[in-house]
Amino acid sequence: MPNDTAAEAGRDFIRDIIQDDRASGRHKTIVTRFPPEPNGYLHIGHAKSICLNFGVAQEFGGRCHLRFDDTNPAKEEQEYIDAIMRDVRWLGFDWGQHLYHASDYFEQLYAWAEHLIKTGKAYVDDTAVDEMRAMRGTLTEPGRPSRFRDRGVDENLDLFHRMRAGEFPDGARVLRAKIDLAAGNMNLRDPVLYRILHAEHPRTGTAWCIYPTYDFAHGQSDAIEHVTHSLCTLEFEDHRPLYDWFLDNLPVPSRPRQIEFARLNITHTILSKRVLTELVRGGHVSGWDDPRMPTLAGLRRRGVPPAAIRDFIRRVGVARANSVVDAAMFDHAVRELLNKEAPRRMAVLRPLKVTIENYPEGRVEQLDAINHPDDPSAGTRQIPFRRELYVERDDFMESPPKKFFRLAPGREVRLRYAYFIACKAVVKDASGAVVELRCTYDPASRGGNSPDGRKVQATIHWVTAQDSVPAEMRLYNPLFTKPDPDAANFAADLSPNSLEVLSDARAEPSLADATPGAPVQFERQGYFTRDTAEAGLVFNRTVGLRDTWAKVQAKG
Ligand code: ATP
Ligand code: MG
Repeated sequence: MPNDTAAEAGRDFIRDIIQDDRASGRHKTIVTRFPPEPNGYLHIGHAKSICLNFGVAQEFGGRCHLRFDDTNPAKEEQEYIDAIMRDVRWLGFDWGQHLYHASDYFEQLYAWAEHLIKTGKAYVDDTAVDEMRAMRGTLTEPGRPSRFRDRGVDENLDLFHRMRAGEFPDGARVLRAKIDLAAGNMNLRDPVLYRILHAEHPRTGTAWCIYPTYDFAHGQSDAIEHVTHSLCTLEFEDHRPLYDWFLDNLPVPSRPRQIEFARLNITHTILSKRVLTELVRGGHVSGWDDPRMPTLAGLRRRGVPPAAIRDFIRRVGVARANSVVDAAMFDHAVRELLNKEAPRRMAVLRPLKVTIENYPEGRVEQLDAINHPDDPSAGTRQIPFRRELYVERDDFMESPPKKFFRLAPGREVRLRYAYFIACKAVVKDASGAVVELRCTYDPASRGGNSPDGRKVQATIHWVTAQDSVPAEMRLYNPLFTKPDPDAANFAADLSPNSLEVLSDARAEPSLADATPGAPVQFERQGYFTRDTAEAGLVFNRTVGLRDTWAKVQAKG
């Protein structure tokens, strides 16, 4: 397990509570769990919960379980189970032996449902779903009792057994807890415990045709696993009285303590599996691992290192009040780590041809280039230099404004690691577009300095026309230009410019066999990684070199 989550004990209200519970001797071993429902891929919001649960367990010498809350076979798939395990491991955490499933407890939960029936605290209700909803009342009006609410224990038991035996179609009846139809908390108005669903379950197959609700399974699963601290997001605060009611009315083996914390929200981002599923199904993105997605799989493919995600989550901290974190803060964490780790290379994203007229045809020189400016041990590499080069189209302007110091007619600049060159002529095509620059170089400036002390105002990157390798560059922009996209109507807020593909880029020769997934900085352009899914030379931009959010916001 990574040790960068450690050494943070006691720095938030949850860690304070756990520290107290340990100090008071209430618990010897701290047990937490991360409980995903396998109905989608994990997103960066889940990373907050993962870092918290696994981090706390690690800091307090306890353990953290991975438990799949797999109570709804209509929405759950093996693909998601596999992806979740892969992503938790990738993020740097290990559940060891402690992999569990709510479905492991179906038999126990069924027995507890029978227990509630026998003690007069649950009943089978035949009311149709719509009617039941209408009868639950509102915040100002109490619920109305179903005419089946006072069924006898024997009849309830018989019907519940027959529900399990498969005698009834989906939706024909449900098992409900008998709590309080006038409760101010709607969750206590006789919530549904079991529903009929003739669906194949990824783990239990066709063994069951009734399934417990999430609410009936969740707290008891924690109790079965002796989870000491059940950390969950604020939307479960209203469910706590119900979970407590179950713990009070069932012979559970332990009593977990539930503590709620705020969900992670990030500007320009929607962290909801429902919306992410619709983005995938609707073809708005190429898949769950599309690098524009806030999923862990998407961030990985985009080149974000797991340590940067952990670092970001640590900086966000854990609090009880909901808030929205600036997307720039995430980029900052990514940039900071990649700045240390990514070797430097040169690539030209939008090439413009340059011919050095006074450089002999056929000559090639090898120049030394440093791999990392802050890390001499990273060493140097050799890059070839020739008469025909490519430079970045943006590094030339025919009529430059005042503050543009790069190439322009008559202007001299430095080619990184190479020579000073001066632009002598501009070649255009029939439409008037600039297609080539004719330049000269100063042979005395090899390595980047002129012996006469002459200064240039800019240093630009380049590759040779002959040795460079063609590459595709994928530049990612926010999926949503609005800082607060509307989850209910997200399609309207989708940006049309979230993916920019540059298919004529050229990369220095050493990049021909770049390792997919490894970080690299293209000098003056940003951090990139070779795509892990494409066979050709495709690079994903992980993040630019500078904060561009201010610009995005101004436009949005
Ligand atoms: P979504 O709302 O995206 O559909 P979910 O809460 O339904 O997510 P689960 O699989 O139930 O997804 O989540 C597993 C755990 O991750 C839960 O304990 C949940 O509270 C937590 N979690 C989900 N989203 C966030 C978030 N944005 N920030 C922090 N924790 C989160
Ligand atoms: Mg959930």
